[in-house]
Amino acid sequence: MVDEITRAVEILKTAKTVAVLTGAGVSAESNIPTFRGEGGLWKKYRAEELATPEAFNRNPELVWEWYGYRQKLVLGCRPNPAHEVIEKMEDCFDDFLLITQNVDGLHRRAGSKKMLELHGNLFKSRCTVGRTILDFTLGDDPLPKCESCGALLRPHIVWFGESPDPMKIQLAVEHSEKCDVFLVIGTSAMVQPAAYLPLIAKKMGAKVIEINPKSTPITNDMDVSIRGKAGEILPEIWTKAGF
Ligand code: NAD
Repeated sequence: MVDEITRAVEILKTAKTVAVLTGAGVSAESNIPTFRGEGGLWKKYRAEELATPEAFNRNPELVWEWYGYRQKLVLGCRPNPAHEVIEKMEDCFDDFLLITQNVDGLHRRAGSKKMLELHGNLFKSRCTVGRTILDFTLGDDPLPKCESCGALLRPHIVWFGESPDPMKIQLAVEHSEKCDVFLVIGTSAMVQPAAYLPLIAKKMGAKVIEINPKSTPITNDMDVSIRGKAGEILPEIWTKAGF
């Protein structure tokens, strides 16, 4: 383990173009449950039964209630040391991009700016008919409407069965192709296209580093794979690298 950390430090010290992919695990130490871990149930529903266009068509009030619940949960949480180290990385490399699958907005609250929110953001909503996208927190109305056209609003989230914005995918792929170090942090690497990005980087010659308490389907493709919590491992790497 120490060896793996030392190797990650050596790799990062000479890096110029860096990509970071994060998943729900990076927010676990902020007390936000991951999808596939324990605590993934809400009432009697699983996330996979609520985060779909079909669920919203069937019962928009139930889906909004769940998103309102998640907004409240996240508002009671704070970014952790992993978010803080990732934010610092922006200024330490010539070129940097954070690609997050998280929708909790904690990277943004930690100050990250060079960032793609691949799966949307819990605190944004969009019109189900027009193009309006707005910052949004659920209030008293259980079925919020678009102020411009009166149509129903929906969470600005990429649901199961939907694809991320093609422009965001293109930017993420381009950065994965050109980076010389790719960090994969706190993702089960089960959701595409995100899970494929580190493999693109690897194919193009980048060094790929994973931080996760558990192994994942892409662990064997990594140059360095560190078993541990992001909020502990990242600060240790950062201190040892002396940035
Ligand atoms: P996931 O739930 O499938 O996997 C989480 C991963 O994090 C696991 O591999 C787990 O071993 C690891 N992990 C747990 N604790 C960790 C820690 N302290 N440090 C580092 N790693 C840790 O999540 P995913 O891969 O992001 O994919 C699921 C989808 O769920 C994504 O599309 C994401 O948008 C969504 N999601 C987001 C949030 C959020 O915004 N916080 C929460 C749940 C789900």
